[in-house]
Amino acid sequence: MNGNIVNGIPKATKLSDPQLLYINGAEVASSNSGTFTATNPMTGKDIYACSSASVDDYKEAILSAQTAFKTWSRTPPSARRLIFLKAADILDSYLEGQEHDEGADVGEIMSAEVSATKSWTTVNIKAGAGFLREAAGLVTHIKGEIVPADRPGTTIMVLREAVGVVFAISPWNAPVSLAARAIATPLICGNTVVLKPSEFSPKSQYIMVRALAAAGLPAGCLNFLPTRPADAALVTEVAVKHPLVRRINFTGSDRVGTIIAGWAASVLKQCVLELGGKAPVLVLEDAAISDAVEAIAFGGLSNNGQICMSTERVIIHDTVAEELKTSLLAKVNTLKCGSQYDDPSVALSGLYTPSSAKRVLGLVKSAIEQGAELLTGDLEIHGQNGTILKPHILDNVTMDMEISKEESFGPIMCLYRVSSDEEAIEVANSSEFTLCSSVFSRDVLRAMGVAKQVRAGSCHINGPTVYIEAPLPNGGTGGRSGYGRFGGMAGVEEFTERKILTLGQPGMRYPF
Ligand code: NAD
Repeated sequence: MNGNIVNGIPKATKLSDPQLLYINGAEVASSNSGTFTATNPMTGKDIYACSSASVDDYKEAILSAQTAFKTWSRTPPSARRLIFLKAADILDSYLEGQEHDEGADVGEIMSAEVSATKSWTTVNIKAGAGFLREAAGLVTHIKGEIVPADRPGTTIMVLREAVGVVFAISPWNAPVSLAARAIATPLICGNTVVLKPSEFSPKSQYIMVRALAAAGLPAGCLNFLPTRPADAALVTEVAVKHPLVRRINFTGSDRVGTIIAGWAASVLKQCVLELGGKAPVLVLEDAAISDAVEAIAFGGLSNNGQICMSTERVIIHDTVAEELKTSLLAKVNTLKCGSQYDDPSVALSGLYTPSSAKRVLGLVKSAIEQGAELLTGDLEIHGQNGTILKPHILDNVTMDMEISKEESFGPIMCLYRVSSDEEAIEVANSSEFTLCSSVFSRDVLRAMGVAKQVRAGSCHINGPTVYIEAPLPNGGTGGRSGYGRFGGMAGVEEFTERKILTLGQPGMRYPF
């Protein structure tokens, strides 16, 4: 069975058509015929049947990636770059509705799988294309060095080499751009990849595979193996521990990241773990409040707060707390919640599952029971399938509440009042998440002083917590946000290995 492949290129299918695995350049059903059903979270209706990769499928994909590695790792850099640049253009063309067949378009797929709004779909495709272009530019910068040798006549080179097969696992929330991020730097460095997409968004993540295959990425370089939730742990453990898998690249929750890190540690294997966040915005007493409000609303509510960089904590100086609160509520109350993909006025769509909406609302209710004050939000779940939550903002939140400790991953923001910069830093640093943060102040030097003391992989001065550019070394600084960095040369460091190569002089003499 070779699925829907024409001239070696997987074509877009109708939304209701089954999704197959992609192994060694062929679309195939699972070796044990296993499938699972992808469901539209907004409607609760089944969308399509997805093949569920078995352990045997993973083993086959890893072997095919290992075979492809032998030639891909030696493919000239300019050839690799051309494929990436072409794939980026193809991705952009998908956004413009230029699919060359009768299949579903990217908006239809992302809307159905993850309730994406039109703007979230656009951001995903553009960011995915951006990751590919940035990676393409890195290809001639994967360099080694020559080190001066003490031994006479000796030349010492330090090469930078691809490592082999990378096992990449991506989450559903930004399905196209995070699939790109999971595979782009590993591939451009000359590695090959076995990708496990989220079970919530296989077709969205397959968009990236289709673009790269259409651009000429050779068979076996990128394999795509969705797996049903019940088998996720089984296949992941096998892949992490497989001797031919040399690196693990995981983006997802700290819960699963901890499990994967444990398996990787048991076989002494290096991982990149890009996990969750609980981003704080620190609003100092001299902040431009209107700027802060716009950034907080955008950072807290884009994609319904389902972004690892989402603003979850707003730490405000007492003297500006009332002004900020009033403006923030006025802003948030203008935002429309709904389910219409084609209604550009809808800012907040549905959460990714009904149980997520219940969990998020549970965090809010428990905070209220412990003394937090609800400033906006109706404590109700809306929508045909119970996934739409209006924004909820809580005041007088304390760090001992569960909502302060756990990533909410919903349209929720908590306000914390402080009376000094030191106290703001202390509250910001009281979380175990360390991904990103923001500081608002008109005094740039003061803001920089605070930013340097916030424990986070990035701190944006006078800008939202949700901010990423492809060349930046993004990632957390440990704790529950994980470790390892994406982007630019930091990403190259993660997915290559140094090799020392020395050249001795003929006729060298030894002590014995
Ligand atoms: P998740 O951790 O639940 O799932 C991620 C992947 O792990 C999925 O493919 C899933 O099938 C797999 N998985 C689930 N249970 C498993 C198990 N027991 N063993 C092995 N694999 C298992 O995360 P999610 O819900 O898909 O994504 C949301 C999370 O990802 C949030 O915490 C978010 O902050 C984080 N995230 C982080 C970044 C970043 O760059 N730091 C970016 C996006 C999302």
